Amino acid sequence: MTITCDVAVLGGGTGGYVAAIKAAQLGKEVIIIEKAKLGGTCLHKGCIPTKSLLRSAEVFSLLQNAEEYGVESAGSRLVFPKVQERKRGIVDKLHQGVLYLMRKNKIRVIEGSGRVIGPSIFSPRSGAVAVELPDGEMETIVPANLIIATGSRPRVLPGLEPDGRYILSSDEALELESLPESLLIVGGGVIGIEWASMLCDFGVQVTVVELAGQILPGEDEETARELAKSLERRGVKIVTGIQLQTDTFSTGEKGISIKALQQGEEQVFEASQLLVSVGRAANVEGIGLENTDIRVVNGNIAVNANFQTGESHIYAIGDCIGGLQLAHAASHEGIAAAMHLAGEKTHAYDPAFIPRCVYSQPEVASVGLSESRARELGRSVKSAKVPFSAIGKALVEGHAEGFAKVVADTETGDLVGVQIIGPHATELIAEAALAAVLDATPWEVGSSVHAHPTLSEALGEAMLAIDGNAINV
Ligand code: FAD
Repeated sequence: MTITCDVAVLGGGTGGYVAAIKAAQLGKEVIIIEKAKLGGTCLHKGCIPTKSLLRSAEVFSLLQNAEEYGVESAGSRLVFPKVQERKRGIVDKLHQGVLYLMRKNKIRVIEGSGRVIGPSIFSPRSGAVAVELPDGEMETIVPANLIIATGSRPRVLPGLEPDGRYILSSDEALELESLPESLLIVGGGVIGIEWASMLCDFGVQVTVVELAGQILPGEDEETARELAKSLERRGVKIVTGIQLQTDTFSTGEKGISIKALQQGEEQVFEASQLLVSVGRAANVEGIGLENTDIRVVNGNIAVNANFQTGESHIYAIGDCIGGLQLAHAASHEGIAAAMHLAGEKTHAYDPAFIPRCVYSQPEVASVGLSESRARELGRSVKSAKVPFSAIGKALVEGHAEGFAKVVADTETGDLVGVQIIGPHATELIAEAALAAVLDATPWEVGSSVHAHPTLSEALGEAMLAIDGNAINV
């Protein structure tokens, strides 16, 4: 069967379904094609399930340390199957929400695996999509515009392919029915660090090995150091600048064993299981790109500033174009693409405004450039930092680790970046992201009234501290 429409979206993850909604709101007739479940990685294998597990870990850890708050909590225990049940409940509820949004916006959902086809009897130009339905039948969608949003999958380290038993990717880790006694995490990026923080709170013995010289490579060094110190205080072993010898991997009765080299010295790591978290690979294979003029560069679909591919009527957004590979980046790219194809003026979208968050304990969040990155780019910058230990609400919360750090241009005084490590950093960063979009100066942000006592006072004071105007530090 052949169906025509204004817009087809290939992939129903956060990027795809948001793009579909925006296009429908702009009056387009939209079809979305999804081979698994609407909501994609974020809802089913990423943001939401991990944050649910992290919250359970936080509650468990709080109970273990409840005496600090004058509360006796003897007898509390972890029931991991219930932790997983809670996670599934949240995911199901949100999945229903996405299905409702599709109905509300009159978006037709086609279940099946899609593949872009070249010029054919269906259309003189490429961009039609052949969809294999669950029953094996084929359907051809012929849209005026196509948005490719096929997402990404865990990157595999040759020799350490996930087997679900000893070697896990984040996909398998999310489905664990019981916790391992110990876990070796390969890769200290965002995903690895969130798992390290969560599992350590659940009482698992965790080791993180990272090739780069710091965890959270690319993020502010001082922030990464503060996080490493905090995790180490809670018992996580972190080894940086280390190269795993994947060909030495072996399994035995007690779990896994693998060797690694650090500055020429050999180390052996043993654990019950191993989690590979070395990034995500864009899903660009098997979707028919070879039938088009769409280019793939460094494994990602190449797009221009409007998210158009080599074929201007075909757009690509989200993890499949690389870049920040975050859910909120994907959805904003989806909105921008839908607006562009509908001839609307697109909203302000600049990767420099996208907040980057790590939901570890303590949380880390940043927007814009770190001090050292700004200097590498030749900018003359200054910075100011306010520790949460100087903030009343942080002491009340019992989480006074970390700081809010502001980086500003020495000559213009403009805001260049903000890094926050500490309680609710991932919520606090919204103010800095808004300031970046509005082009507000640190003084303007710091002068707006921050309620007392709140954690937001840390950022307000740091904004004022950049010119020596802080009051409480
Ligand atoms: P995806 O969500 O991957 O969706 C792509 C969809 O396309 C999938 O549903 C897939 O089934 C479908 N598809 C692929 N090929 C085809 C085809 N041929 N036919 C039909 N359908 C197809 N980001 C954050 O911002 N915050 C977080 O806290 C966060 N935590 C994360 C934790 C983990 C463990 C992981 C793995 C990721 C996390 N992310 C987080 C990243 C976030 O999940 C992704 O950036 C986001 O899901 C990207 O959205 P997307 O729409 O581009 O792709």
